[in-house]
Amino acid sequence: MSKSVTELCKILNLSKDEIDGVEDSAFPLKVPADFLQQIQPGNGNDPLLKQVLPLKDELKQGTGFSQDPVGDLLKNPTPSLIHKYQGRVLLIASPKCDIHCRYCFRRHFPYQEHSNQRHWQKAIETIAADSSIHEVILSGGDPMSLAENALLALIEQIEKIPHITTLRIHSRTPIVAPSKAPKTRLLTWAKQSRLNKVLVVHCNHKNELSDKTAELLTQYRNSGFHLLNQSVLLKGVNDSAATLQELSHALFEQGVLPYYLHQLDKVQGASHFEVSDSGALQIMQQLRAQLPGYLVPKLVREVAGEANKTPIIDL
Ligand code: SF4
Repeated sequence: MSKSVTELCKILNLSKDEIDGVEDSAFPLKVPADFLQQIQPGNGNDPLLKQVLPLKDELKQGTGFSQDPVGDLLKNPTPSLIHKYQGRVLLIASPKCDIHCRYCFRRHFPYQEHSNQRHWQKAIETIAADSSIHEVILSGGDPMSLAENALLALIEQIEKIPHITTLRIHSRTPIVAPSKAPKTRLLTWAKQSRLNKVLVVHCNHKNELSDKTAELLTQYRNSGFHLLNQSVLLKGVNDSAATLQELSHALFEQGVLPYYLHQLDKVQGASHFEVSDSGALQIMQQLRAQLPGYLVPKLVREVAGEANKTPIIDL
């Protein structure tokens, strides 16, 4: 469900003056109904609202912030495919998302050139011709924003490639729009597939989780998916050890293990979300003291041109 800032303020009982929003962003406001329900009315500082509300702050040009902060455009030999990592390839399955996260590192990515379904055949042929690839990661946009039939058609083609052992889906849909997430055909396929199946969801704050997400994630888990979460460290949203500790516990309650905590990709328009590395490391130190190791995510940054995510560690 897309809304203007004015409509959103009306629904959430907020005065436009207190939020400093902009109506005409090139990356417009988009918030699904399930996510909207999780935002607290009357609270201009709600951590979920901050993730979707276009602010005047986005017009600032932060130092080092650019349109392609992780170098995606340098690494796609075939449209739709991004081959940055050894043994794994990322396939941009859909240009769309159910939500527009203001900090999105692909908010300027030219999806129309790279994610058209007519590129899939070429992408599948490229993967089939390279036996060093054993894992295909469906990304986007959000692959779960595809119609379920189209998603399954793609997955079934991938499964036919003998050297592919693992299918990974990166999706925010099960968290922000669980009512719209693919279920029937995907679950039936997953129960009988030979592939290892990994679903990496994207949740930044415990308030994003609900009974609906719990029910859906249980179904995925019972069908054979390993469930992991990645979050982005965001100023004003989750930049405290207490908030991230609550998130790890809430995810675990829903059968999901914390995987990565990403330092913000320096994408133009998102500089107001930046947390310093020293601040991030301090938070990690507190998390390690408070949580069992399996609930502590790895703090990482994606660096353009690097062959893997770069851990951020104390020296
Ligand atoms: S769901 Fe992911 S790809 Fe989509 S807008 Fe949010 S961060 Fe970007």
